[in-house]
Amino acid sequence: MPIYEYRCNQCKREFSHLFLNPKVVSQAQCKYCKSKNLTRLLSCFSVHQTEESRLANLDTSKPQGEDYYKDSRNIGLWAKKRMRELGVDLGSKMDEIVEKGRTGKILEEFNK
Ligand SMILES: [Zn+2]
Repeated sequence: MPIYEYRCNQCKREFSHLFLNPKVVSQAQCKYCKSKNLTRLLSCFSVHQTEESRLANLDTSKPQGEDYYKDSRNIGLWAKKRMRELGVDLGSKMDEIVEKGRTGKILEEFNK
């Protein structure tokens, strides 16, 4: 049974939601104001995800919230996935590139 944590974009409160049925995950709504305008937070459960599965779950076509980029791990992750999608094979240079990503330089280079 997945437990997800959300922040409501309407009333700004955070709450966790236990889904008894995984099929209704997309129907999550705020406990307080019933808004469906929610941001899913990284919960303690997702720490156990491998980087591969975090990459797989990351949708680079959607802008991530400001908070997302406050976690420097996510910046590197986003960059990795984005470059895979662009067909850029960086091999062992990846770590170096990810370091650049953490300092924000990577977006300058790849947005040219
Ligand atoms: Zn709310």
